Amino acid sequence: MQEKHIDLERIRADVKKRIEAAVPEANINYCLTCGLCASGCPATGLEDMDPRKFLRLLVLGQDKEILETDWIYSCTMCQRCRYACPMAIDVGRIVYEIRGMRPREERPKNLQRSCDLQRQNNSTGIPNEDFVWVVGDVLEEVREAEPQWKDLQAPVDKKGATYYLNQNAKEPTVEPEEMVPLWKILHAAGIDWTYSSEWWDGANYCLFTGDPEDWEYTVRKQAEVVDALGCRYYINTE
Ligand code: SF4
Ligand code: SF4
Repeated sequence: MQEKHIDLERIRADVKKRIEAAVPEANINYCLTCGLCASGCPATGLEDMDPRKFLRLLVLGQDKEILETDWIYSCTMCQRCRYACPMAIDVGRIVYEIRGMRPREERPKNLQRSCDLQRQNNSTGIPNEDFVWVVGDVLEEVREAEPQWKDLQAPVDKKGATYYLNQNAKEPTVEPEEMVPLWKILHAAGIDWTYSSEWWDGANYCLFTGDPEDWEYTVRKQAEVVDALGCRYYINTE
C-alpha cells in the first residue's frame, strides 16, 4: 500500500459513524463475515483487499486503513456484493461515500483532474469547437468511404430533436471512429437525435471521485442544454 498522509483530524474521521449516517440501509453491523461478497467481486485481491476485509476494517474502526487504501478506486460499484450478501450490505455504496471523504489532494490525480475539467464543460478540456469539428469531419469521412451510409447524420444543436445524446469525451479526442456505430444504429432505427455543442460529455468523473455536488452540477448543466434545445428525451451513453 502506498504511504499517504491523510489528516484524520482535519476530516474529523469516525468513518463508521459517518457511513452509518450516510448509508443507514447498509447494516454494516450485521455482517456475518461469510465472504460471499468477496467470492464474486471483480476487485477481490487487488491492493491486498476484498469487500469482506474492507467491511471488517470499517466495522472495527480502522479509519486510517479505510481512508488510505487505493482499493476504493478498484471497486467498480457494480453491486454484485450487495446481491450476493445474505444481509444485503452494499459495499459499493459504502465505497462511494469513502471516496468522497478522501481529501481532494489525496485522490488519484487523473480522476480528480477529469472531474475538475468536467465542471468547466468536458473532462478532456478540449474546446467545444474541436468537438463539433471532429463530429463533422468523421461524418464526412464515413459518407465518402461508405456509400451505403451517404445519408448518415450526426447533428449538433438541432433544435426540437426528439432525443438528446451525450458522448464520452475520450472518443472524439482519441478514437473518433468509435462514435460511428451508434450514429449508424440511430440512423437505421430512424431516430431523430442531436448532440449539443456545450456540456456534451457524458462520462461523469465526479461520480467516481465521490463528489455528489460536482456530479449534480454537471448533470444539471446538461439538463439545461436539453431543455434549451427542446429535446424530449435525454440519452446518457455512459
Ligand atoms: S460493488 Fe465493489 S465491492 Fe461490490 S462486488 Fe462490485 S467491485 Fe466488488
Ligand atoms: S457477504 Fe455480506 S455478510 Fe458476508 S462477508 Fe460480505 S458483507 Fe459480510
